[in-house]
Amino acid sequence: MVQCSLCEQLYAPDDLDAGTCRTCEQLADSENTPPDEIGDTFRSARLAANDTYIIIYGSRLLKPNQLIVLDRTNSNTEIHRRNIRLIERVRRWLK
Ligand SMILES: [Zn+2]
Repeated sequence: MVQCSLCEQLYAPDDLDAGTCRTCEQLADSENTPPDEIGDTFRSARLAANDTYIIIYGSRLLKPNQLIVLDRTNSNTEIHRRNIRLIERVRRWLK
């Protein structure tokens, strides 16, 4: 298993493309928005999901943007949250 450099979850090597999982890649074009209880804390947010995880990327005003991972196999419990630094946003499609 290898770790996605963005959501930091473990995937089979074939599921990663240039270090990023397919679900995180889908975030770039996603028009899905998270439920209000999560989405309301962000200026804007979008969501992508696979069988195991829901991944949410939210942008905030004057604060670092955040990436959140929910575990679909455990009642959508939040299992991971981290700030996305500006340098990562520049290197990727993240805005
Ligand atoms: Zn990922």
